[in-house]
Amino acid sequence: MLIISINAGSSSLKFKLYNMPRGTVICGGLFERIDLESGIFTLKINGTKEEKHLQVPSHGFALQMLLDTLISKKIIKSYHDIKAAGHRVVQGGSLFKRSAPITTTSKAQVASLIPLAPLHNEPELNCATAFEAILPNLFQVFVFDTSFHQTMEEADYLFPIPYDLAMKHQLRRYGAHGTSHQYLAKIVEQKIIRNKKSYKLISCHIGSGASICAIKDGKSIATSMGLTPLGGIMMGTRSGDMDPSVYYYLQKLEGLTNEATFQLLNRKSGLAGVSMLSSDSRDVLEAEARGDKNAIIADELFVRRSADFISQYYGRLGGADVIVFSAGIGENSPEYRERVVRSLEEAYKLDIDLELNKKTRGTFMKLSTPKSKVKIYVIPTDEELMIAKDAYQLYQEQQNEPK
Ligand code: AMP
Repeated sequence: MLIISINAGSSSLKFKLYNMPRGTVICGGLFERIDLESGIFTLKINGTKEEKHLQVPSHGFALQMLLDTLISKKIIKSYHDIKAAGHRVVQGGSLFKRSAPITTTSKAQVASLIPLAPLHNEPELNCATAFEAILPNLFQVFVFDTSFHQTMEEADYLFPIPYDLAMKHQLRRYGAHGTSHQYLAKIVEQKIIRNKKSYKLISCHIGSGASICAIKDGKSIATSMGLTPLGGIMMGTRSGDMDPSVYYYLQKLEGLTNEATFQLLNRKSGLAGVSMLSSDSRDVLEAEARGDKNAIIADELFVRRSADFISQYYGRLGGADVIVFSAGIGENSPEYRERVVRSLEEAYKLDIDLELNKKTRGTFMKLSTPKSKVKIYVIPTDEELMIAKDAYQLYQEQQNEPK
C-alpha cells in the first residue's frame, strides 16, 4: 500500500513514497526555492538522482508536478494508488497528543497554533490544503513534532513566568524533533534494549536544528527545545538557551525591533554567529583546522552546550543505559561525538572506540567499548518513515471503524 510522507517548509517540500507496512522506499526527493524565480525539483529513484530547474510558483504546483511525474515514470498508474499522505507539522501545542486525521476541525486547530510557530505551521497547513484540493478523497494526517513530548510533566514543561500569563498565551515548553526522538527510541528498544522493559535513553538529534531528549521507557520526560525551536542547545543558526536579558540588551543597544531580535537569534546566531563564518559544521571544522579563533570557540561552545544537556538529563533520569547520536552532525561528525564524549567521560565513565568512531558516518554503530558504563550508539534517524507509519496506522484504524 503506497503512503506518501510530506515535509513542507516555507519555500521547500520534501517527500518520500513508501510501500507500507514494510516501509520500503519507492522514491523520494524535494522541491526547493518554491515561489522564487528559479526552483529546483530533485527526484531520487533506484539509486539515481534527477534534477530539474524550473519555476515552482506554489506548493500546490509542486504536488501536482510530483503526481504527474510519478505517473509518467510509471511509479503509479493513477493518483488513487496512493492511499494516504502524512504531513509533518512542527507545532501541535497541547492540542495534539498523537497524530491526527486531517479534518476541518484539525485544520482549524493547526491554524490556531500558527502564532506559536509562524515559520512552520502556516506553510505546512497550506501544503496539506493544496494536497486536499488535488486529491479531495485522499486520507491525510498531520504528524506533529511536539506530540512525543506531551508526556512531559508540568514541572518539566513550565517556564518560571507568571502562571496566569503562561496559561493565557500557552507559553510553555513543547519541544521538537519528537518524530525523530521517538523513532530513535523505537530502534533502541528493538536492537539494543530488546526484552528489557525499563530503560533510560538520552537521545541527541544534532543537525542544523538540534535537540536532546531524556527518554524513560519510551516516553519523553524532558527535552531541550522550548516554546519554539529556538530553545535548548546552540544550533547552526539559533542561539539556544541563554540569559533572557541578552534579548533586552540587544534590542536596547542595537536599536533592534522585537522582530529583528527574534530573527537575529533564529537566523544569525549559533555556529554561524559565533564562528562568523558558516552555519555548516563542516565549514567550521575546516576553519578550526586552519587555526581560526572564532571557529575554535564556536565548536567548543557547541560541544559544551550539548554536554550540559546530556549531564542534566543523566541526572534527571537517574543515570542512562544508552546515549544515541543522530541527524546530520550526530551521524556524520566523529569530531563532534569524540569531543562530547571526552568532556563527559570522567563524570559518567564513558568510553568509545576512537578508531571506530572516526570511520562511522551515517550508519548504525555501537561506539562504546565494554568498559563504558553507558552504551553509546550512532543511529541514523528516519522522520519520514515515522510519518508514513503514523499515516498507515491511522488509515488502518479508519478502515476498521464501524461504518
Ligand atoms: P541536518 O539538519 O540533520 O540535515 O544536518 C545538517 C548538518 O549536518 C550541517 O551542519 C552539516 O554540516 C552537518 N553534516 C553533514 N554531513 C557532515 C559531515 N560529513 N561532517 C560533519 N558535519 C556534517
